[in-house]
Amino acid sequence: MKCKFCGNENMSVMALVPARSPDGALTAFACLPCAKKKGLYCEKHDRPFTGFDDETSVCIMCVEEFIKQEKYRIHEVAKRIFDVIPYEEKERLLFAAEIAAELTDRNRDVAIFRFVASRAKRSGLLIDDIIDEHIAKTKSVSFILGEHFHCFP
Ligand SMILES: [Zn+2]
Ligand SMILES: [Zn+2]
Repeated sequence: MKCKFCGNENMSVMALVPARSPDGALTAFACLPCAKKKGLYCEKHDRPFTGFDDETSVCIMCVEEFIKQEKYRIHEVAKRIFDVIPYEEKERLLFAAEIAAELTDRNRDVAIFRFVASRAKRSGLLIDDIIDEHIAKTKSVSFILGEHFHCFP
């Protein structure tokens, strides 16, 4: 294994990080110093960031911590989003949240909050800005859903 950034092959610890390779893959191996320098490795949680379709990345443990800190807002955020989007977008968000909730805590509002929290951390935006600027104005939940949720079954 060779570090994508410095080319070093002799590092004992390598991390699989979200970085585009020439072959189009969205992950690559990096030595720990490079992974940390490129901001693709969380020192607090000692793990590489997770990449997303839009080529942003985040430490998912940091997102979970953020959700715990802000948990008093979970129901408020879901309600505010549902209040500003049209019927088709509600259906789309519910569908995505139900799939996500199946995999985690089985709670629809937490799943919705997780979409928003992940987006906030990946983009450096505030939750309120995401709702007001990227959901209410566009009347769409595309900003918080990954590409995977474009199609209905
Ligand atoms: Zn390196
Ligand atoms: Zn972290």
